[in-house]
Amino acid sequence: MATEQELEHCVTHAIQIVRQRVKQTRQAHPQVKSRIQDYPAMVVACGYRRGREVFWGESKSPVNHIYEGRLRERLEALAPIGTKRPQCNNTLGACAEPHAADMVLKNAPRSYLNELQFSKAYRPRTAKRKRYCRNCKDTFPEVL
Ligand SMILES: [Zn+2]
Repeated sequence: MATEQELEHCVTHAIQIVRQRVKQTRQAHPQVKSRIQDYPAMVVACGYRRGREVFWGESKSPVNHIYEGRLRERLEALAPIGTKRPQCNNTLGACAEPHAADMVLKNAPRSYLNELQFSKAYRPRTAKRKRYCRNCKDTFPEVL
């Protein structure tokens, strides 16, 4: 089981990694004007109840991303991955939550969707906390 503290520690680490990556990219390409879009919108950490492994994910396009089978089925039951539903402003499959859960499901084979644990979700550019969106609540109804 990942404790709430471990999940928060992991997502704090993720914010630092993302900020470092953006800084390095900007230093490597000083001629390119830096943009807010250099940052992923959100990061979140994910673990599961019967294991110790914790992974983090960032929001990004789900196009060309192959989700773990059980998670893919969950997402596709809502709408085609990569499309928008009227209930939510976010593109289905683009949030940090499914990307973090995907890491858990692929790397911790004993994990199940109904025992996932998420940290709070943060915007790494500002470190501000954001609420889980409708797509994520509908994808992980047992845990969000
Ligand atoms: Zn979401």
